Amino acid sequence: MKGKLLFLGSGGSMGIPVIGCSCPVCTSSASEDKRLRPSVLLTTGGKRFLIDIGPDYREQALKYHIDTLDGLILTHTHYDHLAGLDELRIYTFRQKKPVPCLLSRESLEEIKIRYHYFLPPLQRDEVHATKLNFQLFEGDQGEILFEGLKVGYFSYLQVGMKVNGLRFNNLAYVTDIMEYEESVFDALRGVETLIISGRRWEKSVAHLTIEQAIEFSKKTGAKKTYFTHISHEIHHEPTMRELPSGFALAYDGLELTL
Ligand SMILES: [Zn+2]
Ligand SMILES: [Zn+2]
Repeated sequence: MKGKLLFLGSGGSMGIPVIGCSCPVCTSSASEDKRLRPSVLLTTGGKRFLIDIGPDYREQALKYHIDTLDGLILTHTHYDHLAGLDELRIYTFRQKKPVPCLLSRESLEEIKIRYHYFLPPLQRDEVHATKLNFQLFEGDQGEILFEGLKVGYFSYLQVGMKVNGLRFNNLAYVTDIMEYEESVFDALRGVETLIISGRRWEKSVAHLTIEQAIEFSKKTGAKKTYFTHISHEIHHEPTMRELPSGFALAYDGLELTL
């Protein structure tokens, strides 16, 4: 697969700077230390696919000129990955058709509750509402064709919520992973580039530590690993010097060529 993957956001659930925080990272002047909520844009075959749509989506879309969109893929429905969903309204208007959206059955059930006001059958304003065309992952692990894009998927848990990891040929996007079965490594066999959440060095309830994520990556055999979903406890520049070779922190605006 040829294409590009752009990090629209590489921060954790609160983003960096954190509201009201005066720590060295939140007050850093380095652009790499400014992180919006986690999301990436995959461009391939002349199409643009968004992976997750957090509360910073409008800002991200303006910054990176995301004027059209061919599909949204959701990993799960926590706020930092979903809160921008209604921003898709402009694409519904402009492209004059629903935006295709690939997600798990569990995510769809959650969206029906949280966004009842624009989804059928409760939709009150047919003309002005966001319209989505849902396609479901079939089961917990497999491969599916989504708007012409081959998407590998597998699942794991984060504090009780099912999350989908994604694979596009030899690149994998594994965010918000906390508890997983060994079978995820079958789904990741042969991956060359791994993007994985690694919030900070210290333990936390919902994320692997950077060290645990390094161990995880080594088991996949990936040649290059990028950390995303980074908290304000991680200072970009000094951390980059500490990481072993083959590992790097992603940053907002980083573009990988596939
Ligand atoms: Zn801070
Ligand atoms: Zn998250």
